[in-house]
Amino acid sequence: MTREDEKVIPVRVGLRCRPLVPKELSEGCQCCLTFVPGEPQVIVGNDKAFTYDYVFDPMTEQEEVFNTAVSPLMSGLFKGYNATVLAYGQTGSGKTFSMGGTYTSAQENEPTVGVIPRVIKRIFHEKGKTADGDFTLSVSYLEIYNEEILDLLCSSKDKPAISIREDPKEGIKIVGLTEKEVFSQHEMVSCLELGNAARTVGSTAMNAASSRSHAIFTITLEQRQGGDKSEAVVSKLHLVDLAGSERQKKTKAEGDRLKEGISINRGLLSLGNVISALGDESKKGSFVPYRDSKLTRLLQDSLGGNSHTLMIACISPADSNIEETINTLRYADRAR
Ligand code: ADP
Ligand code: MG
Repeated sequence: MTREDEKVIPVRVGLRCRPLVPKELSEGCQCCLTFVPGEPQVIVGNDKAFTYDYVFDPMTEQEEVFNTAVSPLMSGLFKGYNATVLAYGQTGSGKTFSMGGTYTSAQENEPTVGVIPRVIKRIFHEKGKTADGDFTLSVSYLEIYNEEILDLLCSSKDKPAISIREDPKEGIKIVGLTEKEVFSQHEMVSCLELGNAARTVGSTAMNAASSRSHAIFTITLEQRQGGDKSEAVVSKLHLVDLAGSERQKKTKAEGDRLKEGISINRGLLSLGNVISALGDESKKGSFVPYRDSKLTRLLQDSLGGNSHTLMIACISPADSNIEETINTLRYADRAR
Protein backbone atom coordinates (compact mmCIF):
# COMPACT_ATOMS: atom_id res chain seq x y z
CA MET A 1 0.00 0.00 0.00
CA THR A 2 1.31 3.39 -0.87
CA ARG A 3 0.91 6.15 1.65
CA GLU A 4 1.97 8.77 -0.84
CA ASP A 5 -1.49 10.33 -1.09
CA GLU A 6 -1.63 10.66 2.68
CA LYS A 7 1.65 12.50 2.81
CA VAL A 8 1.41 15.38 5.21
CA ILE A 9 3.17 18.59 4.34
CA PRO A 10 4.15 19.60 7.87
CA VAL A 11 4.62 23.31 7.38
CA ARG A 12 3.16 25.71 4.89
CA VAL A 13 4.15 29.34 4.71
CA GLY A 14 1.93 32.19 3.62
CA LEU A 15 3.53 35.59 3.22
CA ARG A 16 1.22 38.47 3.95
CA CYS A 17 2.04 42.08 3.17
CA ARG A 18 -0.18 44.75 4.68
CA PRO A 19 -0.91 48.07 2.93
CA LEU A 20 1.13 51.16 3.83
CA VAL A 21 -0.39 52.58 7.01
CA PRO A 22 -1.24 56.32 7.36
CA LYS A 23 1.93 56.99 9.36
CA GLU A 24 4.13 55.51 6.64
CA LEU A 25 2.24 57.43 3.94
CA SER A 26 2.61 60.72 5.80
CA GLU A 27 6.33 60.07 6.21
CA GLY A 28 6.62 59.60 2.46
CA CYS A 29 7.54 55.90 2.61
CA GLN A 30 7.56 54.00 -0.67
CA CYS A 31 6.63 50.39 -1.30
CA CYS A 32 9.80 48.37 -1.86
CA LEU A 33 8.16 45.11 -2.94
CA THR A 34 6.81 43.75 -6.21
CA PHE A 35 4.21 40.99 -6.33
CA VAL A 36 4.28 38.65 -9.28
CA PRO A 37 0.71 38.14 -10.56
CA GLY A 38 -0.39 34.53 -10.44
CA GLU A 39 2.82 33.40 -8.69
CA PRO A 40 3.34 32.98 -4.94
CA GLN A 41 6.38 35.17 -5.22
CA VAL A 42 7.61 38.52 -3.96
CA ILE A 43 10.56 40.56 -5.24
CA VAL A 44 12.44 42.89 -2.92
CA GLY A 45 14.00 45.91 -4.54
CA ASN A 46 15.09 45.02 -8.04
CA ASP A 47 16.32 41.49 -7.80
CA LYS A 48 15.82 39.37 -4.68
CA ALA A 49 12.91 36.96 -5.27
CA PHE A 50 11.31 34.79 -2.57
CA THR A 51 8.70 32.08 -3.17
CA TYR A 52 6.27 30.67 -0.59
CA ASP A 53 3.24 28.40 -0.55
CA TYR A 54 1.04 31.46 -0.66
CA VAL A 55 1.73 35.15 -1.11
CA PHE A 56 -0.96 37.63 -0.09
CA ASP A 57 -0.42 41.13 -1.48
CA PRO A 58 -1.67 44.26 0.33
CA MET A 59 -5.05 44.10 -1.43
CA THR A 60 -5.83 40.63 -0.08
CA GLU A 61 -8.87 40.47 2.19
CA GLN A 62 -9.09 38.53 5.44
CA GLU A 63 -11.62 36.17 3.91
CA GLU A 64 -9.22 35.12 1.17
CA VAL A 65 -6.41 34.45 3.65
CA PHE A 66 -8.78 32.28 5.65
CA ASN A 67 -10.23 30.39 2.70
CA THR A 68 -6.88 29.78 1.01
CA ALA A 69 -4.54 29.03 3.86
CA VAL A 70 -6.46 28.30 7.07
CA SER A 71 -9.43 26.36 5.80
CA PRO A 72 -7.36 23.30 4.71
CA LEU A 73 -6.00 22.98 8.27
CA MET A 74 -9.51 22.99 9.63
CA SER A 75 -10.50 20.08 7.43
CA GLY A 76 -7.61 18.18 9.04
CA LEU A 77 -8.76 19.20 12.51
CA PHE A 78 -12.18 17.62 11.96
CA LYS A 79 -10.41 14.44 10.88
CA GLY A 80 -8.54 14.38 14.19
CA TYR A 81 -5.24 16.05 13.28
CA ASN A 82 -3.73 18.80 15.40
CA ALA A 83 -3.01 22.09 13.71
CA THR A 84 -1.16 25.32 14.41
CA VAL A 85 -1.41 28.74 12.82
CA LEU A 86 1.45 31.10 13.66
CA ALA A 87 1.62 34.80 12.84
CA TYR A 88 5.25 35.90 12.60
CA GLY A 89 6.74 39.32 11.88
CA GLN A 90 8.05 42.58 13.27
CA THR A 91 5.84 44.72 15.52
CA GLY A 92 3.37 46.63 13.35
CA SER A 93 3.46 44.17 10.45
CA GLY A 94 -0.12 42.91 10.89
CA LYS A 95 0.11 39.80 13.11
CA THR A 96 -2.68 40.76 15.49
CA PHE A 97 -4.80 42.11 12.64
CA SER A 98 -4.39 38.84 10.74
CA MET A 99 -5.16 36.64 13.76
CA GLY A 100 -8.04 38.69 15.11
CA GLY A 101 -6.36 39.47 18.39
CA THR A 102 -8.31 42.67 19.00
CA TYR A 103 -11.67 41.17 18.05
CA THR A 104 -14.83 42.18 19.85
CA SER A 105 -18.29 40.87 18.99
CA ALA A 106 -19.29 44.38 17.85
CA GLN A 107 -17.23 43.66 14.70
CA GLU A 108 -19.04 40.43 13.99
CA ASN A 109 -20.07 41.10 10.41
CA GLU A 110 -17.17 43.24 9.31
CA PRO A 111 -14.91 41.99 6.51
CA THR A 112 -11.81 42.97 8.54
CA VAL A 113 -12.22 40.26 11.19
CA GLY A 114 -9.23 37.97 11.42
CA VAL A 115 -8.49 34.27 11.59
CA ILE A 116 -9.65 33.36 15.12
CA PRO A 117 -13.25 34.60 14.86
CA ARG A 118 -13.51 32.96 11.43
CA VAL A 119 -12.21 29.68 12.85
CA ILE A 120 -14.79 29.86 15.64
CA LYS A 121 -17.60 30.45 13.17
CA ARG A 122 -16.48 27.52 11.04
CA ILE A 123 -16.24 25.18 14.04
CA PHE A 124 -19.77 25.93 15.15
CA HIS A 125 -20.98 25.56 11.59
CA GLU A 126 -19.50 22.02 11.58
CA LYS A 127 -20.87 21.32 15.04
CA GLY A 128 -24.32 22.29 13.81
CA LYS A 129 -24.19 19.42 11.33
CA THR A 130 -23.58 16.79 14.01
CA ALA A 131 -25.80 15.25 16.66
CA ASP A 132 -25.75 16.68 20.19
CA GLY A 133 -22.89 15.31 22.24
CA ASP A 134 -20.77 14.38 19.23
CA PHE A 135 -18.64 17.50 19.58
CA THR A 136 -17.12 18.69 22.86
CA LEU A 137 -15.22 21.97 22.72
CA SER A 138 -12.95 23.75 25.14
CA VAL A 139 -10.64 26.73 24.94
CA SER A 140 -7.64 28.18 26.69
CA TYR A 141 -5.85 31.44 26.06
CA LEU A 142 -2.37 32.13 27.38
CA GLU A 143 0.58 34.38 26.95
CA ILE A 144 4.27 33.52 27.18
CA TYR A 145 6.23 36.42 28.53
CA ASN A 146 9.84 36.09 29.69
CA GLU A 147 9.52 32.29 29.44
CA GLU A 148 6.64 32.46 31.89
CA ILE A 149 3.11 31.29 31.12
CA LEU A 150 0.26 33.68 31.94
CA ASP A 151 -3.40 32.65 31.91
CA LEU A 152 -5.46 35.16 29.92
CA LEU A 153 -8.75 33.56 31.01
CA CYS A 154 -8.12 33.90 34.74
CA SER A 155 -7.80 37.30 36.33
CA SER A 156 -7.44 36.01 39.88
CA LYS A 157 -4.39 37.35 41.68
CA ASP A 158 -3.51 34.09 43.39
CA LYS A 159 -3.44 31.82 40.37
CA PRO A 160 -1.79 28.44 40.67
CA ALA A 161 1.63 28.16 39.10
CA ILE A 162 1.41 26.92 35.53
CA SER A 163 3.64 24.16 34.29
CA ILE A 164 4.00 21.98 31.20
CA ARG A 165 3.71 18.18 31.55
CA GLU A 166 4.03 15.52 28.98
CA ASP A 167 1.37 12.83 29.15
CA PRO A 168 2.16 9.72 27.11
CA LYS A 169 -1.50 9.36 26.11
CA GLU A 170 -2.82 12.88 25.98
CA GLY A 171 0.31 14.66 24.80
CA ILE A 172 1.30 18.04 26.17
CA LYS A 173 -0.71 19.13 29.22
CA ILE A 174 -0.53 22.56 30.75
CA VAL A 175 -1.17 22.13 34.43
CA GLY A 176 -2.90 25.01 36.21
CA LEU A 177 -4.22 26.68 33.06
CA THR A 178 -7.91 27.50 32.69
CA GLU A 179 -9.47 25.21 30.14
CA LYS A 180 -13.04 26.32 29.64
CA GLU A 181 -15.62 24.05 28.12
CA VAL A 182 -17.87 26.04 25.81
CA PHE A 183 -21.28 25.13 24.47
CA SER A 184 -21.97 27.93 22.02
CA GLN A 185 -20.27 30.20 19.53
CA HIS A 186 -21.13 33.12 21.77
CA GLU A 187 -19.33 31.50 24.72
CA MET A 188 -16.20 30.80 22.71
CA VAL A 189 -16.15 34.35 21.33
CA SER A 190 -16.50 35.66 24.90
CA CYS A 191 -13.32 33.79 25.85
CA LEU A 192 -11.51 35.40 22.94
CA GLU A 193 -12.76 38.84 23.94
CA LEU A 194 -11.87 38.28 27.59
CA GLY A 195 -8.32 37.22 26.73
CA ASN A 196 -7.85 39.97 24.17
CA ALA A 197 -8.88 42.52 26.80
CA ALA A 198 -6.52 40.98 29.38
CA ARG A 199 -3.70 41.26 26.86
CA THR A 200 -4.42 44.91 26.18
CA VAL A 201 -4.60 45.82 29.87
CA GLY A 202 -1.37 43.96 30.50
CA SER A 203 0.41 45.71 27.68
CA THR A 204 -0.23 49.20 29.04
CA ALA A 205 0.93 48.14 32.47
CA MET A 206 4.02 46.40 31.19
CA ASN A 207 5.14 48.94 28.61
CA ALA A 208 3.72 47.41 25.45
CA ALA A 209 4.78 43.97 26.56
CA SER A 210 2.40 42.43 24.05
CA SER A 211 4.95 43.04 21.32
CA ARG A 212 7.38 40.94 23.37
CA SER A 213 5.03 38.11 24.27
CA HIS A 214 3.51 35.19 22.40
CA ALA A 215 -0.28 34.78 22.70
CA ILE A 216 -1.78 31.34 22.12
CA PHE A 217 -5.52 30.71 21.73
CA THR A 218 -6.14 26.97 21.80
CA ILE A 219 -9.30 25.14 20.82
CA THR A 220 -9.61 21.50 21.83
CA LEU A 221 -12.13 19.42 19.95
CA GLU A 222 -13.37 16.03 21.14
CA GLN A 223 -15.38 14.11 18.61
CA ARG A 224 -17.49 11.05 19.29
CA GLN A 225 -19.44 9.27 16.67
CA GLY A 226 -22.75 7.88 17.82
CA GLY A 227 -22.96 9.23 21.32
CA ASP A 228 -20.82 9.07 24.45
CA LYS A 229 -19.98 5.39 24.33
CA SER A 230 -17.43 5.42 21.53
CA GLU A 231 -13.90 6.57 22.18
CA ALA A 232 -13.30 10.26 21.54
CA VAL A 233 -10.95 11.55 18.89
CA VAL A 234 -9.20 14.58 20.33
CA SER A 235 -7.61 17.27 18.21
CA LYS A 236 -6.19 20.68 19.04
CA LEU A 237 -5.87 23.88 17.10
CA HIS A 238 -3.39 26.49 18.31
CA LEU A 239 -3.73 30.04 17.02
CA VAL A 240 -0.56 31.94 17.82
CA ASP A 241 0.22 35.64 17.68
CA LEU A 242 4.00 35.57 18.08
CA ALA A 243 6.17 38.21 19.71
CA GLY A 244 7.60 40.89 17.43
CA SER A 245 10.56 39.52 15.52
CA GLU A 246 12.53 42.77 15.44
CA ARG A 247 16.00 42.78 16.86
CA GLN A 248 16.38 44.24 20.30
CA LYS A 249 17.89 47.69 20.21
CA LYS A 250 21.47 47.40 21.36
CA THR A 251 21.37 50.63 23.31
CA LYS A 252 20.45 50.41 26.99
CA ALA A 253 19.40 46.78 26.79
CA GLU A 254 19.95 46.17 30.45
CA GLY A 255 18.22 44.54 33.37
CA ASP A 256 14.65 43.50 32.64
CA ARG A 257 14.84 44.72 29.09
CA LEU A 258 17.79 42.51 28.37
CA LYS A 259 16.10 39.53 29.99
CA GLU A 260 13.04 40.13 27.84
CA GLY A 261 15.08 40.40 24.70
CA ILE A 262 16.85 37.15 25.34
CA SER A 263 13.76 35.14 26.22
CA ILE A 264 11.80 36.29 23.23
CA ASN A 265 14.61 35.52 20.93
CA ARG A 266 14.73 32.11 22.53
CA GLY A 267 11.13 31.31 21.54
CA LEU A 268 11.43 32.60 18.00
CA LEU A 269 14.88 31.11 17.56
CA SER A 270 13.86 27.65 18.69
CA LEU A 271 10.64 27.85 16.69
CA GLY A 272 12.76 28.56 13.60
CA ASN A 273 15.01 25.60 14.42
CA VAL A 274 12.09 23.25 15.03
CA ILE A 275 10.26 24.27 11.88
CA SER A 276 13.29 24.03 9.67
CA ALA A 277 14.13 20.59 11.11
CA LEU A 278 10.57 19.47 10.32
CA GLY A 279 10.67 20.76 6.78
CA ASP A 280 14.01 19.21 5.91
CA GLU A 281 13.50 15.78 4.31
CA SER A 282 17.16 14.91 4.73
CA LYS A 283 16.87 15.35 8.50
CA LYS A 284 13.91 12.99 8.75
CA GLY A 285 13.86 11.13 12.03
CA SER A 286 16.61 13.24 13.48
CA PHE A 287 16.43 15.30 16.64
CA VAL A 288 13.93 18.15 16.75
CA PRO A 289 14.84 20.69 19.47
CA TYR A 290 11.39 21.22 21.00
CA ARG A 291 12.72 21.55 24.53
CA ASP A 292 14.67 24.73 23.95
CA SER A 293 11.80 27.10 24.79
CA LYS A 294 8.37 27.21 26.42
CA LEU A 295 6.82 28.09 23.08
CA THR A 296 8.08 25.02 21.24
CA ARG A 297 7.47 22.70 24.22
CA LEU A 298 3.91 23.85 24.42
CA LEU A 299 3.35 23.37 20.70
CA GLN A 300 5.34 20.13 20.57
CA ASP A 301 2.44 17.78 19.83
CA SER A 302 0.99 20.18 17.27
CA LEU A 303 4.09 20.84 15.18
CA GLY A 304 5.34 18.00 13.02
CA GLY A 305 4.15 14.40 13.15
CA ASN A 306 0.67 14.30 11.67
CA SER A 307 -0.04 17.93 12.51
CA HIS A 308 -0.48 20.71 10.05
CA THR A 309 1.23 24.04 10.53
CA LEU A 310 0.69 27.31 8.77
CA MET A 311 3.03 30.21 9.29
CA ILE A 312 1.66 33.55 8.22
CA ALA A 313 4.74 35.72 7.81
CA CYS A 314 3.63 39.34 8.07
CA ILE A 315 5.55 42.21 6.50
CA SER A 316 5.27 45.94 5.91
CA PRO A 317 5.72 47.12 2.31
CA ALA A 318 7.56 50.29 3.39
CA ASP A 319 11.12 50.94 2.30
CA SER A 320 11.82 52.20 5.83
CA ASN A 321 11.25 48.63 7.12
CA ILE A 322 13.24 46.84 4.44
CA GLU A 323 15.82 45.38 6.83
CA GLU A 324 13.26 43.74 9.10
CA THR A 325 11.24 42.68 6.07
CA ILE A 326 14.24 40.84 4.63
CA ASN A 327 14.81 39.18 8.02
CA THR A 328 11.21 37.96 7.98
CA LEU A 329 11.45 36.77 4.37
CA ARG A 330 14.55 34.77 5.29
CA TYR A 331 13.07 33.30 8.47
CA ALA A 332 9.97 32.26 6.52
CA ASP A 333 12.12 30.86 3.75
CA ARG A 334 13.89 28.60 6.24
CA ALA A 335 10.53 27.28 7.34
CA ARG A 336 9.70 25.79 3.97
P1 ADP B 1 1.39 43.57 14.91
O1 ADP B 1 0.40 42.77 15.67
O2 ADP B 1 2.23 42.73 14.01
O3 ADP B 1 2.24 44.46 15.79
P2 ADP B 1 -0.94 44.97 13.94
O4 ADP B 1 -1.77 43.80 13.58
O5 ADP B 1 -1.27 45.67 15.20
O6 ADP B 1 0.60 44.57 13.93
O7 ADP B 1 -0.98 45.96 12.69
C1 ADP B 1 -0.41 47.27 12.71
C2 ADP B 1 -1.38 48.25 12.04
O8 ADP B 1 -1.56 47.92 10.66
C3 ADP B 1 -2.75 48.23 12.65
O9 ADP B 1 -3.25 49.54 12.66
C4 ADP B 1 -3.57 47.36 11.71
O10 ADP B 1 -4.94 47.68 11.73
C5 ADP B 1 -2.94 47.67 10.37
N1 ADP B 1 -3.00 46.52 9.44
C6 ADP B 1 -2.30 45.39 9.56
N2 ADP B 1 -2.54 44.54 8.55
C7 ADP B 1 -3.46 45.15 7.77
C8 ADP B 1 -4.13 44.79 6.55
N3 ADP B 1 -3.90 43.62 5.94
N4 ADP B 1 -5.00 45.67 6.02
C9 ADP B 1 -5.24 46.84 6.63
N5 ADP B 1 -4.63 47.25 7.76
C10 ADP B 1 -3.75 46.42 8.33
MG1 MG C 1 0.23 42.71 17.76
